Amino acid sequence: MRKYCLMLAIGLPVAGLFAQDSALKTRAMGDIQSRYDDYKKIALQIWDYAEVGYKEVKSSALLQKTLTDNGFTVKPGVAEIPTAFVASYGSGSPVIGILAEFDALPGLSQQAVPEKMPFEGRNAGHGCGHHLFGTASVAAGIEIKKLIAEKKLSGTVRVYGCPAEEGGSGKVYMVRAGLFNDVDVVIHWHPGAENAVTLTSALANKSAKFRFHGLSAHAAAAPDKGRSALDGVEAMDYMVNMMREHIPQETRIHYVITNGGKAPNVVPDFAEVYYYVRHPKKEEVVRIFDWVAKAAEGAAMGTQTSVDYEVIGGTHDLLLNKALADDMQQNLLRVGGVNYTPAETEFAKKIQASFTYKVAAIETVGTVQPLKERLDGGGGSTDVGDVSYAVPTVGLEAATWVAGTPAHSWQATACGGMEIGTKGMMVAAKTMALTAIDCFLNPALVTSAKEEWRKDKGDYQYKALLGDRKPALNYRD
Ligand SMILES: [Zn+2]
Repeated sequence: MRKYCLMLAIGLPVAGLFAQDSALKTRAMGDIQSRYDDYKKIALQIWDYAEVGYKEVKSSALLQKTLTDNGFTVKPGVAEIPTAFVASYGSGSPVIGILAEFDALPGLSQQAVPEKMPFEGRNAGHGCGHHLFGTASVAAGIEIKKLIAEKKLSGTVRVYGCPAEEGGSGKVYMVRAGLFNDVDVVIHWHPGAENAVTLTSALANKSAKFRFHGLSAHAAAAPDKGRSALDGVEAMDYMVNMMREHIPQETRIHYVITNGGKAPNVVPDFAEVYYYVRHPKKEEVVRIFDWVAKAAEGAAMGTQTSVDYEVIGGTHDLLLNKALADDMQQNLLRVGGVNYTPAETEFAKKIQASFTYKVAAIETVGTVQPLKERLDGGGGSTDVGDVSYAVPTVGLEAATWVAGTPAHSWQATACGGMEIGTKGMMVAAKTMALTAIDCFLNPALVTSAKEEWRKDKGDYQYKALLGDRKPALNYRD
């Protein structure tokens, strides 16, 4: 970092400076690639573990061991979450954080074959590619550690092991615990069907389980003695569906009835409905969620049942950072996309044949998408949103899935279990490492990222949407 400033001060030609950075980057890319077999093995092992949110005991342990074996100091069990960890190497500033995820999804068990074929006796699968996510982030962290150890860089690199991204809001607890307070820049990525730097915001999201309590009775012989908890749920759902006309159209509300009683001839004394409320702005999510909670109260009154609710998750929208995104785009272009072998192309063709809609050509995974800003929330939510309110963040999507593959699909699980997935993971690992190198060597980049972040955040004081609840460690039970 210091060298960079000195060189500028003595007026060394900028081209010379870039040549030096360039050599370092070329080396970093080569280093990461030389460990491909190791990283592939780790990713496929986590794919095979397929552990859901907060139950990622073996997946987290494997990533922690990999980091410890490579010289990191690992602090496990942070933020009162047994599977969360922070791994560090180096000292002083800048502090560059890299996020790693590793949770699987229920119901997405699938073998690494191009037709729908779940594993027998296994329910969960990596339909969002978080096994690749965690491994690529660890790979990037290890490369940066090597460069710090060789004194090519100075400062601190941290890999954040972030559990339960899928609905568990793992990172929110880590932000709430202050684990990002001294970090300068956070880098992350997500598996996808194309290579693109993320300049799309995310929807803020608040979720809760509403639990209705009634009285059971024989549904034919003594219905007047019972009060149906399921009636409470249905009345609530009806009211919420009427709300849709009167809320901003960008709002998304979805629910599933997680318990609707057990037998038609018993008036259910318990029923539960699980709701998500989303909007591009966190303030709107809070307002609409409170309205949904009122509908629950009204439903309980009208059905002579009672209701209580537990907030399960809550995530902020995502603050984008153009300064960092511009830099990452250059690095992604340098790394480039993915090329398939003939066998992988055959696999990809079969995956594409399973889609009922028009998809991009298979070869698009070999290209990099232009940087495009989108502020409507994009459709998804992420707990990286909360991190983005604590520190400037930047991320990318890398093509770990065949073009056209949606997240949370058997096709995504299938691609993630073979080299189509692990090759894409390497694009992410390299691009993140190169972007981290820029953050270490170019203080002006970090300064402008911070200025932009301060402006965007304004005077907002962070408050977790899920309040002060303890981590919902059993939300998948
Ligand atoms: Zn995901």
